[in-house]
Amino acid sequence: MDADEFRKAAHAAIEDIIQYNTNVANNTHPVLPSIKPGYLAPQLPKAAPEHPQSWQDIQPDITSKIIPGLTHWQSPNFMAFFPACATYPSILGEMYSSAFTAPAFNWLCSPACTELETIVLDWLADALHLPTDFRSDSPGGGGGVIQGSASEAIVTIMVAARERYLHRKCDAEGLPNPSPERDARIAGLRSKLVALSSDQAHSSTAKGAIIAGTFHRTVKTSFEDELAVHPDALEATLRKCIADGLEPYYITLSYGTTSTCAQDPLHLLAPVLQNYPDIWIHIDAAYAGTALVCPEYANPPEGASSTTEAMTNGTSPSSQPLQKPTGLLPQGPSILCQVDSFNTNMHKWLLVSFDASLLYVRSRRDLTSALSVSPAYLQNKHTDSGLVTDYRDWQIPLGRRFRALKIWFVVRSYGIEGLRAHIRRTVRVGEHCAKLVTESKDGKELFELVTKPAFGLTCFRIRPDAIPRALVRRSSALDANSTENVETESTMNGSPFGTVEQQDEVAQNQSKQQSLTKMQPTQAAEDL
Ligand code: PLP
Repeated sequence: MDADEFRKAAHAAIEDIIQYNTNVANNTHPVLPSIKPGYLAPQLPKAAPEHPQSWQDIQPDITSKIIPGLTHWQSPNFMAFFPACATYPSILGEMYSSAFTAPAFNWLCSPACTELETIVLDWLADALHLPTDFRSDSPGGGGGVIQGSASEAIVTIMVAARERYLHRKCDAEGLPNPSPERDARIAGLRSKLVALSSDQAHSSTAKGAIIAGTFHRTVKTSFEDELAVHPDALEATLRKCIADGLEPYYITLSYGTTSTCAQDPLHLLAPVLQNYPDIWIHIDAAYAGTALVCPEYANPPEGASSTTEAMTNGTSPSSQPLQKPTGLLPQGPSILCQVDSFNTNMHKWLLVSFDASLLYVRSRRDLTSALSVSPAYLQNKHTDSGLVTDYRDWQIPLGRRFRALKIWFVVRSYGIEGLRAHIRRTVRVGEHCAKLVTESKDGKELFELVTKPAFGLTCFRIRPDAIPRALVRRSSALDANSTENVETESTMNGSPFGTVEQQDEVAQNQSKQQSLTKMQPTQAAEDL
């Protein structure tokens, strides 16, 4: 394909992409494809083409063969997992990134890749109200890096945590480095290391422990505590690990768990963890962390609960549930100064297309001393000067994509106020849905909330007594009303593509739609 052919092909592809997004926004596609497993192979040749094909031959296959097999994450009716908010500025960033293809593992491999990444990560640290410790210019040597996924960020951190723990122990015991005694001690300790997370934390911590070659234990949570970690449960788990001869070296605390967006209350857990100063504290805020762009999340009003008071007063909180889990940051972001690392995914909720996972650390040395390997072919005078960042030492792979571009484009195109507006709109969607569950006649009869709505998520379930009610209502006149609702719904539009004002309208539609989709009595009865 030469430049002229590319120009034509690219224009045609962009038209295709715009058409696709418009169709998805207009609900032209059902969210799930209706194909069967193995649908694609019979439609494609058994072997790769021997001879070149033209774009005119290739492009139509997108519509005829690929789109029918897509799950439409951008659809306003998509309500699984987490939002996927791709936007046009983000797509443009991907285009340039692909055009510049530079696996910029060292600063020298493309200084702009590294320097832009450092700059946008600092912008975002400020925009998310993170402590200045996480900025690249912090005296403690903190900084941020873009990873492909939260799972990748977490396993990377777990390896750094493991190495820091082992070496701190050996240093404390005065074992020379290197020395055979140290190696023997490390081998012994390694077999006892245990990582912790709550039973609600994302499975990436369990997987990270497998990859890091350590044990993993969970802290039990309860509905009484809104599925957040209670300090007593944490203390009990830590004590049990130690009684079992294990060495707790790492903990994931969640700011927004996958199932219900529970928030482990750092202000209550920090006093427990202070007694275990070698444990690395990581905050996994994969989805909810981007809400910190709004001051009302980053600096929620003082609400430090009665449990905190009970603890400082010496009255045991053991019999008290966390009456009102106030979230990770009830005392503002300063509480985050006690954690070692923090991750959040822009590709979940902040208008950047997959993949863009932000990872911040308080000490880059923890990462680089665990992960830096420097064969001759990676050495250069800039690295030796100590004046540049080589992100290869902050991650598992060597090569890396130019992801900072799409983040840069999104932040500039929307402005921080646009990002805040997006978060607030989508939170309102969740609140609207919760209202319909708790306040509407249909909602109250058929559904109940599982946990308090959190961020944009409303978790509700069918009431145990809803089945007989729904069956009765199925034959009633109400069915006619719900059919009307379905028709209204099918005309609605929704997409994160467009201006803030357009999106406002979209969000209102999505809100209505989300609620209606979940609230169809007839549908509920049929599903049962
Ligand atoms: N952490 C939380 C809280 C999540 O909800 C998820 C995924 O939904 C992950 C981590 C893993 O994300 P990723 O797909 O970026 O690895």
